[in-house]
Amino acid sequence: MNTENKNKHKTIIDLETLNTLNEEGCPACGKKFTLGEPVVLACGDWGSKKKLVHENEAIFDKISGSYIEKTCYRSTTQKS
Ligand SMILES: [Zn+2]
Repeated sequence: MNTENKNKHKTIIDLETLNTLNEEGCPACGKKFTLGEPVVLACGDWGSKKKLVHENEAIFDKISGSYIEKTCYRSTTQKS
């Protein structure tokens, strides 16, 4: 398990990030972020650009070394 690599994508919401992100809310669940909440930069259905989502809404993909939003992760892994 590569914990160092994983933590690279992790952030804690500060006031500035909060104000910026809450214009749209979380791209994964649509809810607002809260100050001090752990978030991760993840790929998802929204395109190739990584966005910050709540940590529990993304899965760390060891192969690509990055977080993928849960729903998106399931749809990509179930392609068989
Ligand atoms: Zn969320």
